[in-house]
Parts: sequence; structure tokens; C-alpha cells
Amino acid sequence: MEGEAGERVHLTLLRRHLGSCLAVFLFAACAALAAPPPAAAAPGVSDIRAWTNEIYTRVAIDTGDEVSWKANTLRADPARNLPPRIFIDIRGAGIRDDILRKPVEVRNGLLRQVRAGRFDRDTVRVVIDLERESAYRVFALPDPFRIIVDIDGEGEIPAIAALPDDAAPPGPAAAEASPADASSPPAPPPVSTAPGKHRVRVMIDPGHGGKDPGAIGPTGLKEKDVVLAIARKVREKLSLSGDFDVRMTRDEDVFIPLEERTAMANKARADIFVSLHINASRNRKAEGFSTYVLSRGASNREDLELAARENGVPVGKLQGVKFIIDDMFTAARKNESLRLAKTVNDAVVRNVSARYQGAHSLGLKQAPFYVLVGARMTAVLVESSFISNVREESRMRDPSCIDGIADGVAEAVRYYGRNRILAHRDH
Ligand SMILES: [Zn+2]
Repeated sequence: MEGEAGERVHLTLLRRHLGSCLAVFLFAACAALAAPPPAAAAPGVSDIRAWTNEIYTRVAIDTGDEVSWKANTLRADPARNLPPRIFIDIRGAGIRDDILRKPVEVRNGLLRQVRAGRFDRDTVRVVIDLERESAYRVFALPDPFRIIVDIDGEGEIPAIAALPDDAAPPGPAAAEASPADASSPPAPPPVSTAPGKHRVRVMIDPGHGGKDPGAIGPTGLKEKDVVLAIARKVREKLSLSGDFDVRMTRDEDVFIPLEERTAMANKARADIFVSLHINASRNRKAEGFSTYVLSRGASNREDLELAARENGVPVGKLQGVKFIIDDMFTAARKNESLRLAKTVNDAVVRNVSARYQGAHSLGLKQAPFYVLVGARMTAVLVESSFISNVREESRMRDPSCIDGIADGVAEAVRYYGRNRILAHRDH
């Protein structure tokens, strides 16, 4: 829990001033304690979280219940010694005094601090003091309601060169072509200053965790446990060659909000983000493997229901997710994400087929997954098998199946990373 929270910059200041009641509430949100949140008369700002580096910041403002809000900017005002600001006005909301008194200090070249105040009797204003004018985007996620601010200090999208269309899936022979030396993986190089010596940084995201088991199979197997096992195997396999710097959003059974997973990948400046999940369906015969990229909508009801379940919201709340298409990073990376998704799906199906008869490909798909929203890198979400299918659930209790899925993911990431990312960077 603390290991994961260490990625954040925020809570130390806040926590020191929290009453025990709110502290329990915050940990309940993070770590599945069963205590109910304290009753509140009106929705209020209960926490402000931030993840940041000098070119990227995500700020999350937690209100729990839905609130109406508006975002805007103010230019620097040198006469009053005020920097450029982004502010979010939240109507009809309260705020805890301790959050009012304690701004979240950042001071990293992009962001100065995040502070909150009462603008008028029923408006709370959250102000983000910037070090310099920056592009930003604001959207809200439901259940629990939180307002997300993504700030881009880079101004332009780091390009992947238009290489020839070389994403033919690697054959089995290509899979183990790398020399293995697991004993002393080199330290992560500073990616921006070592041309020709880059390693591809991969963020593997095992879905769910902690209080959120994900889908549960007929005999009780939990998605959160299967995807963590797959993720650890993928890390092990990718770490062998030294070409890949592999990180994980979680390496234990903890709950991490979806927006934090994306923020962790962005903050780490990952090149590739792979979110791992297991599908489920009311149709107990449904089976197979599919890999998704982010899109505004889904092509059919099943995919919409899947995205709603993975997002932890009712299907109705997935409507109107306009923010997705506005994101320039998502748009710029879409073709790359499609390319990686196809490579991953083909490789996973091939590797599982080598161990089991009849692994079934459902192919490349698109749906509005929150965990992919705002990702600044090539990003895919893998749905490996249906845990609701008795046969596929029993396969996933077999380490050989986990190994096959992990082999497929690792093989695809290796192939994609070498051909698309290292090839481009070394030029
Ligand atoms: Zn899932």
C-alpha cells in the first residue's frame, strides 16, 4: 500500500492534519477497509491527489457524490505576483478545513501547487498554480465522482516515426531471440539523455486488486489474482534481455483507482502500457481472447457492458464520454495502439494454442476503458479468456496457461518495442 502510494506527491502534508475519521475514509478508498464514509450533509472535496513530473501532471479532486463544476484558466498577473492558473469551480459543495489550510506543494518546473478555497458561499474553487502556461484537459469520472485535470507541460506529442508497416506478428522463432541475462539488469537509464542506449519502458497493469476482485469464476477463481500472476510472469520474461525496463502498477493485492494507474504510467514516462484483464459474460459458453484500444464508444452491447464492468460503473454512465476523443495523445497514439493490440492478441492466442486445443481469438476491439483515458503512450487492454466459462476458468488455474498468456504478451511487447520504439529512437 505505502509502496504504491509512494508514487504520489500529495498525501503526506494532508494526512498529518487529518482527523482519524477522514483518515479511515481515505484508507477505505485506497485499501478496502469496510468502514463506511462519514455521513455528509452535502458533497464536498474530500481529497486532492496529484501525480507529477516536470512535463506531466494529473490532479484528481475527489468529491464522492456527483457535483456540477466548471474549469477555466487565468493568465499570470505579475503585479499581484500570481502565476498562470487553472481553476475548477465546484458548485454546491463543501470542503474540509484541513484541505483548505494545506495546499499540495509540487514545485517541479511545471506545477507550483494545488490549493483550494471557498470562492463564494456555495462554490469551492480548486486552483492549480502553474510555473508556466500549459495545455490542460479536465474531465470527470463517476462512482465515486472525481474531477481529473491532466496538464501537459511538453506542448507537443513525442512522435513515433512512420516506419513501414512491419507489424506482422512474430513467429515462434522470433520469440526467444534475445540473449538472457537475468542476473544483473542494468539500472534504468535517463531516457532523455542517452540516445542509442534506450530501454523500452513498459508499465504492466494487472487489473483490479484489494477490495475489487474483478470478475469471479464459477468455482471462485478471481480475476485480480489471475492477472497479477500473468503480470509477474510478463515482467520476469521481459526483464531477461535488458532491453526493457518493466514496471507494474501493483505487485500485490491492493486496490488502485483507474485514474491512478494511467497516471503512474504517464509519470514514469512509459513507452508501452498493457492493462491485463480476464473477461466474463452472462453467456457461460462465451470464450476466447481479445485485445482492446480506447475509443469513444463500443461496437456492440457486449463490449459496452465489458467496459462498464471494468470501469466499475453502470452502462448508462458510459454514455457521453466525449472527453476521450478530445485527447490528442490518444489520437496520436491510436494507430500504434491498434498495431500493438493486434500483435499482442495474435501472440497470446498462438502461445496458448500451443498448450491447449482450441484457444479462440475474438480479435482486435475498441471500447471506452477509463484506465486508457489520458495515457500518453501506446496503450492496450488485454482480455485473456472468460473466467465465467468453466473450461477457461479451469485452464487459468494451470500455471502452464498463465505462462502461455504471459509468453504471448511478452513476445508481442518485445517485438513491438524493438521494431517501433528502439528502431525509431536509435535513428
Ligand atoms: Zn477486469
